[in-house]
Amino acid sequence: MSAFDTVVMVDWSGGNDTGPRPRQDAIWACIARGGRSETPVYLRNRAEAEVWLSTLFEAEAGANRRVLAGFDLPFGYPEGFAEQITGQADPLALWDWLEDRIEDAPRSNNRFDVAARINRQFGGRGPFWFNGLQRDIDGLPRRRENYHNPFAEWRKAERETSGTSSCWQLGGVGSVGSQTLMGLPVLARLRRRFGAAAWPFEPVDKPLVLVEIWPSLTLGAAPKDMIKDAWQVSEVARSVSALETDTLNAILAVPRTPEGWIFGIGHEAVLQAAAGLPPCLNNDCFALPPGVTWTPVNDALALLKERLRPVTSTLRLPVGQAAGHILASDVEAPRASPPLPNTAVDGYGFAGARGPGLHRLPALGGRAAAGDAPGIVPEGHAVRILTGAALPQGVDTVVLQEDVTLHEGQIAFRGPIKPGANTRQAGEDVAAGDVALPKGTRVGPAELALLAAVGAAEVAVHAPLRVAVLSTGTELIEAGQPAPPDRIYDANRPMLLEIIRRLGHQPVDLGQVADARDAVAARFDAAARQADVLITSGGASAGDEDHVSALLTAAGAMTLWRIAVKPGRPLALGVWSGMPVFGLPGNPVAAMVCALVFAGPAMALLAGAEWPEPQGFQVPAAFSKHKKPGRTEYLRARIRRGRAEVFASEGSGRISGLSWADGLVELPHEAVEVTPGTPVHYIPFGSFGL
Ligand code: AMP
Ligand code: MG
Repeated sequence: MSAFDTVVMVDWSGGNDTGPRPRQDAIWACIARGGRSETPVYLRNRAEAEVWLSTLFEAEAGANRRVLAGFDLPFGYPEGFAEQITGQADPLALWDWLEDRIEDAPRSNNRFDVAARINRQFGGRGPFWFNGLQRDIDGLPRRRENYHNPFAEWRKAERETSGTSSCWQLGGVGSVGSQTLMGLPVLARLRRRFGAAAWPFEPVDKPLVLVEIWPSLTLGAAPKDMIKDAWQVSEVARSVSALETDTLNAILAVPRTPEGWIFGIGHEAVLQAAAGLPPCLNNDCFALPPGVTWTPVNDALALLKERLRPVTSTLRLPVGQAAGHILASDVEAPRASPPLPNTAVDGYGFAGARGPGLHRLPALGGRAAAGDAPGIVPEGHAVRILTGAALPQGVDTVVLQEDVTLHEGQIAFRGPIKPGANTRQAGEDVAAGDVALPKGTRVGPAELALLAAVGAAEVAVHAPLRVAVLSTGTELIEAGQPAPPDRIYDANRPMLLEIIRRLGHQPVDLGQVADARDAVAARFDAAARQADVLITSGGASAGDEDHVSALLTAAGAMTLWRIAVKPGRPLALGVWSGMPVFGLPGNPVAAMVCALVFAGPAMALLAGAEWPEPQGFQVPAAFSKHKKPGRTEYLRARIRRGRAEVFASEGSGRISGLSWADGLVELPHEAVEVTPGTPVHYIPFGSFGL
């Protein structure tokens, strides 16, 4: 566990507003928790960035979460500078000094004038240089000719690394001078407002700690289809959030130099090794289009399908241990299957076709059996050959043993026989290098056979999806315990844990919790530490005791999905510390139907598998029903004598009907009139993956 709950990394910029379209050399920020980063956020100017950061810090403080915030700008200048400017030994006095003087607007700022004013204090030829404006500014050299810097060119931290830029240079390739002048005033305000500690000047025991980062310390070039700044903040945030507390503390334990320090110097390898999990889901991943009140089932499913992606890490496993895992990448066949042409039958092999009529061929002594190295058969001869044997050189056709008579060393049979008859071509099933199995496939018995046949030794798979199950409700009591009549037994949890297991995921039992906000929040935190997904039942609506939805809403990460479905009250879909949460209704029938119809396919995507479409079929109804339009209905059903029967009661408290049924009849969103014999859509429980 990291000492910080949340890590945010920011790539700062000294320039003007960069416009609405995400681009390089703008401000980028990325949040990460527990080794997983969210999607990087594009911030077009500093004012927007300051608002975004303030909102984040406020929310994290509200949730009692510690934050480590990194910025890619020097927190200090070479020795002596700050003191000469402010008259104070405290390097943070310079942050406030700059904050008093820097004027910032999206399209203009006074950084060159402030730099020139400082330069004039030292004779007007340095320490700052470079002027990005048309007009000349007294005291600010445009180039380094005639430049004079009364201070060191580099800080100690920069002398220990290579490739950093000088804080004195205000523009040009890779310069950081401007973003420092334009960044420190913002940091000064954030520090004051949130009581943050600025590292390494202050002890890091505050809920918010600001650190100086330099992504190139550990990162190489960005992947070619990604914006470099976005990629860098995401990678740094992810790896830092994955660090163990001890490692992080070791990195933060540096002398309190007034020049500031770069996070991670001397610990590069640890930082690089720390990355490795896929990015997690954003808080808004379950947002619904505005204005929609009752979302049709198919729209809800389409949204889940579009928004969710794998959240588990990947690992390599020997094929023998891969059963039950989901492939994380395509498996290419290391060799062809079959590797050599061979015979599909027992018989006699020779070269070429034979026309109609009787044919005789001399048979060689001996035989070719499966596992024999292919020999040679001379033109015009035949050899006895057994199923699976590689075709000897000079054999491409096999005649069935039953169709042959053998007499005095000669075989006789009747044509016609086609060329290649009764043989298998090399690679006719899978050619070497072909994709034998695509990523997203769950490895079952058939896949094990195929992987073995093509000679795969190891495969990349997803770690199992860990799904926590939590029952909420003060009325609940553990099954099997003595219970007063005003309590009800927790029926959902055993059901959901078993559904998860049958769907191939790893159930994590989080027990049950009373309807109390803090207790539910504590279980959510526990789930986020132990699992990749949380499924709750109960408390998902918008009532007084509906704490699942209340908590997720307070965390700013929930959407109440009012899905037009029966049975099923609203689903609370949200994200808690990067972990997706499915808040199912408490009613066991609704909980099971919603788990199968919505949570099941969603979990498949989160686990790295393909989106499953439960296959149903049309069967004549054995019942009558008048269904109104405007929602999809699922009826507990089973097939008897070729017809779909439905459970006598549609009451969603009738758990017995779930067991009575073998599947569900799905009645469409539109109105339908069912009478005995009307075809209805029946989906067996097995088609949902049970
Ligand atoms: P809720 O969604 O919390 O309003 O609960 C709806 C109904 O489902 C209430 O009658 C609850 O008592 C019942 N219920 C909630 N959770 C469970 C559970 N785990 N097992 C059985 N019934 C439950
Ligand atoms: Mg309840």
